[in-house]
Amino acid sequence: MVINQITFYVKDGDESHEVVFTRKDNIVEVSCSCPAASYGLHCKHRLNLLMGSKKDIIDGDLEHIPAFVNWISNLEIQTVP
Ligand SMILES: [Zn+2]
Repeated sequence: MVINQITFYVKDGDESHEVVFTRKDNIVEVSCSCPAASYGLHCKHRLNLLMGSKKDIIDGDLEHIPAFVNWISNLEIQTVP
């Protein structure tokens, strides 16, 4: 099975945000639903995941964590709003 999109929900205080990783060939686009991301900032939700921290994940494609780790190790990452 080829995985093209992986979604995680991460907690931030009382809120949760949706972080979506979309693979396009050798590029992975990363979006987040938080306000900072909508302003084009590099929010901590994405940065933490890209740094390999999985402690804030509360839901989503948990079965795809191994594929996600492979992506961030081997592919080019681009943040998108
Ligand atoms: Zn965010």
